[in-house]
Amino acid sequence: MPGEPQDDCLFCKIVEGHVPATIVRETQTTVAFRDINPQAPTHVLVIPRAHYENVAALAAADPDLAADVLREAKAVADEDKLESYRVVFNTGPGAGQTVFHVHAHVLGGRGMQWPPG
Ligand code: 5GP
Ligand code: ZN
Repeated sequence: MPGEPQDDCLFCKIVEGHVPATIVRETQTTVAFRDINPQAPTHVLVIPRAHYENVAALAAADPDLAADVLREAKAVADEDKLESYRVVFNTGPGAGQTVFHVHAHVLGGRGMQWPPG
């Protein structure tokens, strides 16, 4: 069922507290935690508690929940006093997605290049 926890999903396990994470913010619908392999001084992942494979599936199934994730991305940036930052949803293996529970990367605290690699 869309949105239901998946037994084999690492981020569902973080939501359930079965895998430890450095949680920086929680709401009724989202969790934000530090990436285990940070690519910038601030590198936080914002996820919906509900399991959706990627941002396309989330936006199609529950636009309000997608908005919650974006709102929390801003809140993370505000907490770390970031004026400039990047919000990334890698979508599909070809774009570098390795965990198939939708997550916004919030990256900041250093200069950034464009285009990304
Ligand atoms: P993706 O490559 O799917 O866009 O991003 C997955 C992210 O999850 C990567 O940046 C990776 O470092 C992070 N990650 C993988 N396993 C863990 C974990 O067990 N804990 C945390 N906090 N982050 C993880
Ligand atoms: Zn999941």
